[in-house]
Formats: sequence, C-alpha cells, structure tokens
Amino acid sequence: MKNRIKKATTHTVQNEGLLFEVSRPGRTGYSLSQLDVPEQTEEMIERRLLRDDDLAGMPELSEVDVVRHFTRLSTWNYGVDTGMYPLGSCTMKYNPRLNERIARLDGFAGLHPLTPAPLAQGALEVIRRLEECLTRITGLHAVSLQPAAGAQGEMTGIMMIRQALADRGDPRKKVLIPDSAHGTNPASAIICGYTVHTVRSNAEGGTDLASLREMMTEDVAALMLTNPNTLGKFERNIEEVCRIVHQHGGMVYMDGANMNALVEVARPGDFGVDVMHLNLHKTFSTPHGGGGPGAGPVAARETLEPYLPFPRVVRSKDGSLTLDFDRPKSIGRVRAYFGNFGVLVRALGYILTHGDEGLREATEAAVVNANYIAHNLKDTYDIPYPGRVMHEVIFSDKRQARHGVKNADISKRLIDYGFYPPTMSFPLIVQGAIMVEPTETEGREELDLFIAAMKAINEEAAEDPEILRHAPHTTKVGRLDEVAAARKPVLRWQPEGRQK
Ligand SMILES: *Cc1c(COP(=O)(O)O)cnc(C)c1O
Repeated sequence: MKNRIKKATTHTVQNEGLLFEVSRPGRTGYSLSQLDVPEQTEEMIERRLLRDDDLAGMPELSEVDVVRHFTRLSTWNYGVDTGMYPLGSCTMKYNPRLNERIARLDGFAGLHPLTPAPLAQGALEVIRRLEECLTRITGLHAVSLQPAAGAQGEMTGIMMIRQALADRGDPRKKVLIPDSAHGTNPASAIICGYTVHTVRSNAEGGTDLASLREMMTEDVAALMLTNPNTLGKFERNIEEVCRIVHQHGGMVYMDGANMNALVEVARPGDFGVDVMHLNLHKTFSTPHGGGGPGAGPVAARETLEPYLPFPRVVRSKDGSLTLDFDRPKSIGRVRAYFGNFGVLVRALGYILTHGDEGLREATEAAVVNANYIAHNLKDTYDIPYPGRVMHEVIFSDKRQARHGVKNADISKRLIDYGFYPPTMSFPLIVQGAIMVEPTETEGREELDLFIAAMKAINEEAAEDPEILRHAPHTTKVGRLDEVAAARKPVLRWQPEGRQK
C-alpha cells in the first residue's frame, strides 16, 4: 500500500514538470498537410538569418500535454474569481463579466487605432461619454483618458501644473507630499523636475495643518494629496488644506486611486482640488494584476483644462465628433492613440449599468465592509490610527510581535485559510502594517470567514507561532527564500546546462 502511494506521488510530480522538461523529441500537437511549395533551401533565406534550432529550444509536446499543463497551472492560481482578495490600496474587486463582453465586441476590439474620425464615431462617442461621466463624478471641468496608469496620470497632472505655473511666469521648485503617500507620488514629482518635501501626518492620520502651513511657501508648486489617504482616512480638513495651498499660489493634486470610497458620495472638485487622476483598473471595472493594461484618466479644473494632453475629442457644428490637435497650451501627447481603449469601454459599461444609484451603493458597501472588519478585529489586532475608516483598514502586527510573529507570517498563514494576503508593510509610516481592503464585492458571510481566520491566526500566534513562521503549508510553493530571490533572481527558464 505504502509503495502504491509513493508511486502515485511520483506520477503527479512528474506531471508537474515544466513544459520544457516533459518535452520528448519528435512529439507534436499538430499535423500539417503535404507541402505543395518548394522546400526551404538556403538560397531562399541566407544562412545567417536562419534561426539555430537548438537555440529556439521549443518544447515538443502533444496537445493533451499542453492543455493539461496550463489547466493544472490555472488550478494553482489564486484570483478574485477564487476568493476574497483583500489587497489594500489595489482595490482587487470583482469586475462584472458584462464589461468584458462589451470590450470584446468586434466594433470596439477590431477597430484600428488609425481609423479616420468620421469612420470611428462610435469609439469617439465612448470616449466623449466616459469623459463626461468622469467629469461629473470628480466634480471637475474636463477629463483626458490618455494616461495608461495611475502613475502616468500623476505625471501628466504634475506636468500640467508645471506648464501652467511657467505660463504664469512663476516656475516653482518644490512639491509637498504627505508621509503616508504611495511611492509613485514622489516619483512623479521628481520625474517632472521638482524636489519632494514630506508633510507629517497627525495622530488621526490626516495632514498635519501646522506642518503644512510652515512648509507652504512661495516656491511650492503643488501639494500631492491622496484622499481618502493610504491609512483609509478621509482628509477631514481637505478644504482648509486646499485653502492654505491656494493662498500661497500653489495647486492641489489629488491622487484619486482610492475613489472607490467617494464615487457618487463626494466630489474632489468641491473640496478645492485642481487636478487629479482616477485608476479605472481599480475603481471602474478593469481586472488588474500581472501588469495588464490599465488607465489613469486625469481630471482638471477649468483653469488647467487647456493643458490637458491632446488630441481632445470635440463635437463639431454638424454634430459629429472630431479630434482637436489645435491645443497650443497642451502638454502634448502622453500616450499613443487614445490610451488603452478597451479599458475605457469597460469603465463606461460599468458606470452606465450601475447608474448613479448603483455606483453610490457600491461606494457605501465598500466603506461598510471595511468598517465591519475594523470593528470586529479591533480587539484582536492593533489599529494604529483608530476610528472610522473609509474603504480600507490598516492593522499592525504589534500585538502578535510579542510572540515573535511578523505581519508576513500572519499573511502567509491567511493563505492556508483560503484568503489572498493583504497588502504588506504599506503605508510606510505604520510599522508591521497589514492593509485590508475587502471592497464592495464581499458579502457578510465571506467577511465573517475572514474575521474568523484572522482571529484563529491570532490564537495560533500565542500557542504555536512556529506554524505561522513556516506558513503557507497548503500551497504548491511554500515560503520563498526572499534573500536568495533578491540576490540571485532566476527570471526565466533556461535549458539544462545553460543556467548561469
Ligand atoms: C495604485 C496606486 C497608484 C498608482 O497607480 P498605478 O495604476 O499602479 O500606476 C498611486 N497611488 C495610489 C494611492 C495607489 O493605490
């Protein structure tokens, strides 16, 4: 019996090999019809241009080998279709399949990006309408859909501010950024040639007004603020913050990656924000992860509208839509064509199918869910900035650290309980941060399971911390050697003998 079990295990392991390793010379998954053209000779293509077969090294497999390989891999993956994905700041919510369907409609997916405007009226209408929806949602004056990601939206917004200040004859040198900000904020400011200065957060996790007043001088171009911020807190003093910045001739850039907490409830334009970006791949129905396409539209106040990237989609007198390149103040293009068009189609689909009321419900559910988790775990896990949160809640590992258990151990153990790990060690101002964003996707039962898992892990931390330190125990790949992964990264498969 023992022998049979052993054999069975060997069999599975063999099948888990990489495609390359299970390759057998001469095995194929296709059959071609008889060659009815002259066979390839060296006169047709010069020898030096022919690929060395050995170098190509493609695996040789049957169709069923390939199908089983990829199907097997798919069952080892965890995704939002498998279970809760509480990755704070990333907003990994479930995205309705309907929006995937409409993005794949032939007229959208098959449209060549160089199609002349008169023949692409439908696509231009999608752009125009989405711009209108996002203008309304942000409470600002105009939107450009060009930037391909949140970080590129930030850069676009800061370039617009820089250009507007230059036109005013008032170029400035500094950008202020709170210490809780996402790392892309300082990166965007520095790429645009500014020096970055850090504004402290106060005990409630908001911007420290005294610190801001002191730093807000005549050479500050902008404040980059995330609202709600990465502590999941709404900036209560947002109007005062904007007033202070404006008083000194600066502008307010808002990082809108966390709009999940605001859509149809509050509008940044009403706070006094001058320019901001949205992450369509977080808030408006584009699945993300693995570096897939996204979109980071930029919304601007009227005074900054002329600086938006060109071309702009405008309606001509006869009612048709055209592309306007005659935008002398524009910062220019930030991306080829019209951005990631498929992402834009999904966003419009999401907005229209929800309607104002539906969008508001999604926002409220996201906030209620985060508060439900915060409330039910506040006696078990330390919450460094207590009180009501918006769409996400930040715990720390302070209490469990007494048993020698770190935030990573807690997160890795959550995998054994069937959950994707939360965001780790961010924001940087929280030691041992565990950042949980349930999103509006999850129902009460799933939230209760998550809460129960977190409580069970807390008990394990006291009783059997070793089990946490070696978690996960249920996955194909256990805990990675992070030092080795950083020092000696293996970034791609190499044929045997070629490993360097
Ligand atoms: C995700 C995120 C960004 C960057 O967006 P990308 O689309 O990943 O470039 C910026 N700020 C915050 C707060 C974010 O959560």
